[in-house]
Amino acid sequence: MQRTGTEARGSILPGHGIAPARAGERAQADDFESRISEQGERALRGIDLNALAVSVTLKCNQACGHCHVSSSPARTEMMDADTMAQVVEVASDLRPPLIDITGGAPELNPRLPRFLRALRADAHRVQLRTNLTALADPEQPGLPELYASAGIELLASMPCYTERNVDVVRGRGVRDASVQMLRKLNGLGYGAAGGPRLDLIYNPVGTTLPEPQAALESLFRDELVDRFGIVFTHLLTMTNMPVGRFRDRLVADGGYERYMHALREAFNPDVVPLLQCRHQIEIGWDGRLYDCDFNLGRQRPVLGDGPATVWEFDAETIATRRIAHGEHCFGCTAGAGSS
Ligand code: SF4
Repeated sequence: MQRTGTEARGSILPGHGIAPARAGERAQADDFESRISEQGERALRGIDLNALAVSVTLKCNQACGHCHVSSSPARTEMMDADTMAQVVEVASDLRPPLIDITGGAPELNPRLPRFLRALRADAHRVQLRTNLTALADPEQPGLPELYASAGIELLASMPCYTERNVDVVRGRGVRDASVQMLRKLNGLGYGAAGGPRLDLIYNPVGTTLPEPQAALESLFRDELVDRFGIVFTHLLTMTNMPVGRFRDRLVADGGYERYMHALREAFNPDVVPLLQCRHQIEIGWDGRLYDCDFNLGRQRPVLGDGPATVWEFDAETIATRRIAHGEHCFGCTAGAGSS
């Protein structure tokens, strides 16, 4: 039966989404590799290079419960000026359709403004993943204005619009600080029709899979405009990956196997050709290459039969490389996919 209005809204309240299947309903012997080979692929390989991801730091002003790279204020890893210069050189040769800046909180790298200006001066399309609160870093005043004037596209973490759901995952006061920053970004034109792109990234509060993206986007659009007058471009959903701090928490709570079972059960063969590792490469803070941010979180660099660092970059070899995959990859193939 078709549900409408409040009833439908209530059914997808963020953090109370689709419950994972019960453990033990299906044998768990199959691993990611055998699932891939069932799709007629002999190995997981890259297809092309549509994006260059760059992790400029693992430091963050927050220590969120779901963080797959275990970022926190205690981390010290920062991309240095030489590595950034090499990234700019590689990007200039490669001309990727997108450069995707991530962290940690990229804003905490003091070299970020110079790096962004260099990339934009070379006419690259640049997007940056922000947790919103780091954008208010007093050490780096004027970052929102810099992003707007440089035409940087933003992907902002926003797991919910309610104070309880945000603060439980991301820390006390984060919901209000995020709302304040979203308003500021809207004031700079972000998220408005014709303005720079401001996408929100949603991930479930607990051990559920994300609700359908279109329904959640519509819910967030209504709630954020009604409650705070905030607008955004699109909402993207992301599965909590069994990597980093989220994995540690699952293991500590005894829920790891159950969560992995739910991910395996939700395997969707249609998303295998779309996996982000097949269309991008990630450069870590120290110049090492990774297939994706999740492999970086697992400290699992690219396999040893090709270029290993940004100084050895060889686009042709990298584009079709074999990919270092593992059990955590089921997080990317669950449901509608997550990468
Ligand atoms: S975790 Fe990384 S390597 Fe594995 S499927 Fe996802 S993007 Fe690819």
